[in-house]
Amino acid sequence: MQVSQLLRRKGTAVATIAPTASVSAVLESLASNGIGALVVSADGRSVDGIVSERDIVRRLASDGAAVLDQPAGDIMTSSVRTCAPDASVDELMSLMTEGRFRHVPVTEDGALVGIVSIGDIVNARVRELETETEQLTSYISGR
Ligand code: AMP
Repeated sequence: MQVSQLLRRKGTAVATIAPTASVSAVLESLASNGIGALVVSADGRSVDGIVSERDIVRRLASDGAAVLDQPAGDIMTSSVRTCAPDASVDELMSLMTEGRFRHVPVTEDGALVGIVSIGDIVNARVRELETETEQLTSYISGR
């Protein structure tokens, strides 16, 4: 399955935050959107970085609550691995496993066109397996 197919079902909305926004604002957005990472973007189209709940937990543990007033740009990961819409979901699974991260922004001509989380991949795989099972069952039973 291609990432573009997954996005067609899931939608292309991506929650972003400006690099100048505070870590507190990142937390509020993660909580209100019910997500685990935000793409950091000055213009809402380019990928300047990514900040996940893990980055905040690590910095809280090392630097304490003062980190909440720092800008998101200070704690984000700048070297973001992205993929194109024609990448396969299998490629993304390998990328996430090797890189030990759970989010991959999707870009086309340098602009954000979606994001895939490990939860989206699990959902897509379960749907694929259910369809395969239904097809095999109807083939075997002749119905
Ligand atoms: P996650 O598992 O996605 O919560 O992220 C774990 C760590 O990897 C955090 O430090 C993130 O900033 C970083 N990270 C998340 N997604 C990516 C990505 N696509 N490329 C590079 N680093 C990432």
